Amino acid sequence: GSTLGILGSGQLGRMLAMAAAQLGYRVHIYAPESGPACDVSAAFTQGDYDDPAALFAFADQVDAITFEFENVEPVAIAQLGARRPTRPHSLSLDIARYRVNEKEWAARIGAQTAPWRAVSNLSSLKTALDEIGTPAILKTTLFGYDGKGQARISDPADSAKAWEEIGSPTLESGFPAILEGHVRFFAEFSVIVCRGVDGSSVAWDVPENLHRNGILATSTVPAREAILAQAEKATAYAIAMADKLGHVGVLTCEFFATADGPVFNEMAPRVHNSGHWTIEGAETSQFENHVRAVLGLPLGPVELTGASVEMQNLIGDEVDAWHDLLAQPGAHLHLYGKNDARPGRKMGHVTRLRR
Ligand code: ATP
Ligand code: MG
Ligand code: MG
Repeated sequence: GSTLGILGSGQLGRMLAMAAAQLGYRVHIYAPESGPACDVSAAFTQGDYDDPAALFAFADQVDAITFEFENVEPVAIAQLGARRPTRPHSLSLDIARYRVNEKEWAARIGAQTAPWRAVSNLSSLKTALDEIGTPAILKTTLFGYDGKGQARISDPADSAKAWEEIGSPTLESGFPAILEGHVRFFAEFSVIVCRGVDGSSVAWDVPENLHRNGILATSTVPAREAILAQAEKATAYAIAMADKLGHVGVLTCEFFATADGPVFNEMAPRVHNSGHWTIEGAETSQFENHVRAVLGLPLGPVELTGASVEMQNLIGDEVDAWHDLLAQPGAHLHLYGKNDARPGRKMGHVTRLRR
């Protein structure tokens, strides 16, 4: 077979499509709306993620399926998996997209997390605050990204305000919110691994990640010495997680570097913004290895191609300076082809490589 199906039309889908195209595969995107990924793909089907008939018709036209984000129901991925190789499979999605499962599985592999309580309503939030104390962070359990769906609580008297701030969420089954104790970290980093169908994994060097306003600003490799001292342990956790899930493809785990060692924050069952540096900075990028894994091909080497590399996101109107970036030697510019530079929107990134 030679067509890769991708659910999602954002920039991650776009960069996956470009990697697949380089390997000679055709790409077919399925998404509710045509986005940047569609610009580089041969085919596009517009459809909702909760429309089984449309999803099955899409599956019939491709040879393998993957997804670029977590807004798909795990049951849809399981159904697609019965028709075509769909990777990663629904378990990875089910665990990684729901913060309660994520924390429980972190404990199962023996990784530390922030102290946490699942929260179902304002009164259970108050109980959780009594137990965990302040400062704390209230998060929705589903669909949060770029720090959206979160409220910081420094005083228990602010619990009602925080509950409203995250939208007073409800869920038919499961917990709509989670309260986390504030972790005192000195840095943040991520572990990006890719596991193949044969069960072998590769792990890239860990990037140090800087966030601004809850949004990733930069990823830098190599990370500082104090982070590197925790990287081996964190990488072992990420590989253990991928193995336990039977994950196929890229799995990204975010960690806090603390005085007590690495603390697991969250994971994504997919390629990740903190891995964009791998396009120029590693022998094989996260996108290419994900495509290879999904298609059942051997994984490529992940060694660094230079001495150091930094990825900087271009957010909102930061993208206006793109012309100047082209004049900088060693700067590799990636624009996602989005028209509307809204504040907080990821418009592109630039990678600076030092040989
Ligand atoms: P992403 O875009 O990475 O998916 P997200 O919206 O899922 O982000 P988190 O990664 O959970 O959110 O949190 C965003 C940022 O907020 C973290 O990178 C970290 O800087 C801070 N943060 C989150 N949880 C905690 C915590 N328990 N203690 C301290 N800081 C935290
Ligand atoms: Mg997240
Ligand atoms: Mg995060």
